[in-house]
Amino acid sequence: MEERLEELAAIETLDNGKPLSMSKGMDLPGSVTILRSLAGWGDKISGDTCKVNGPYQAYTLYEPIGVAAAIIPWNFPIASLIIKAAPALVAGCTMVLKPAEQTPLTALFIAALAKEAGIPPGVLNILPGFGPTTGAAIASHMDVDKISFTGSTEVGRLIMEASAKSNLKPVTLELGGKSPLIICEDADVDIAVEIASLGLFFNMGQCCVASSRIFVQEGMYNEFLRKASEKARNRVVGDPFQAGVQQGPQVDETQFKKILGYIESGKTEGAKLLTGGKRIGEAGYFIEPTVFGDVKDDMKIAKEEIFGPVMSVLRFKSLDEVVKRANDTMYGLAAGIVTNDLNVANRLSRSIRAGTIWINCYHVSDPALPFGGYKMSGIGREQSLQAVLNYMQLKTVVTPVH
Ligand code: NAD
Repeated sequence: MEERLEELAAIETLDNGKPLSMSKGMDLPGSVTILRSLAGWGDKISGDTCKVNGPYQAYTLYEPIGVAAAIIPWNFPIASLIIKAAPALVAGCTMVLKPAEQTPLTALFIAALAKEAGIPPGVLNILPGFGPTTGAAIASHMDVDKISFTGSTEVGRLIMEASAKSNLKPVTLELGGKSPLIICEDADVDIAVEIASLGLFFNMGQCCVASSRIFVQEGMYNEFLRKASEKARNRVVGDPFQAGVQQGPQVDETQFKKILGYIESGKTEGAKLLTGGKRIGEAGYFIEPTVFGDVKDDMKIAKEEIFGPVMSVLRFKSLDEVVKRANDTMYGLAAGIVTNDLNVANRLSRSIRAGTIWINCYHVSDPALPFGGYKMSGIGREQSLQAVLNYMQLKTVVTPVH
């Protein structure tokens, strides 16, 4: 992958629309780092000896679970593939992986590279296809021993049902989010704007962990809105192959229309449109970086996953109030906190029900960090040693001692 970085990055951008600088500078090197880190677990998996009652001795043994399957989305095609395939192969499993129908190309390219690198035939199998046909067939297959899915909560539920109706294969789910970013008035407004913009606009807003509900304390509210809108207005949107472009097109027409629909609903429900709100040009699925102020908790843009460059800003007064409101969602994938007060940071990070909490930063990811959701954002964790154990069975062996 390192040797073929230029080609892989170009294909990823062609397929997905993300800036080439991102494919080349983040997604690919990040995936290689994950691969190296997970490969390191291969010779470090060990069981326990167990103290048992009676004249017996016992030990535990980790074994590969068997045939593992993965179904992945289109927003980070290479990274999602590596996050699932690397731990499965390190655990000693084979894998059948279905890329998203919008972005199958880099997965196929990686399959060719795997062959070239000497991974035996049948170990890493890329099976492109549509969700309701190919995806559903994989999820309900009796010979698949484990399934790992990343995508929407709606489809995650179907995967669980398919497992329940077939062979009860264990399921790992990485699903949607509506992650709160809580900005306290003691923080520096420019840093807060920086974190909020990164949190929301990164990858054209197409991130499961996007900071899609930004709660700003009243003392900073007006200044934050002014500066965040200005920053959004200055974002460079355009051809993702051009240097300096920060935002490319949305992935396809369906997502594009869905996002414009959410912008309309924001306007109709009375949120204040501060900047953006329209498509750019006549060709391509480009959307203006959009900021809504005065968003209320019961508006659609504050409740549902938009998956686009639309920032929703809500006002809050007290910490007790914001904890309650931030947790008032079916999701629990991630959250951010911006404050200079350590006590506040500690208190909020313990009170927010989410799998990852970023304090004074956002989108920091590392193979060492377990990643996954609370509530309807998922089941299980990926990355770290947890990821490898997802693809293993734990066997207990008992023998008498004479
Ligand atoms: P999606 O759930 O529609 O599709 C994801 C994958 O599931 C695709 O490969 C698709 O072909 C497949 N699929 C669709 N229907 C299926 C079915 N009936 N049976 C089996 N497979 C099926 O999601 P999407 O719209 O492509 O992606 C956006 C969603 O993914 C968002 O909700 C986002 O939050 C979520 N997501 C979550 C994470 C995470 O790590 N938690 C990461 C990326 C995206």
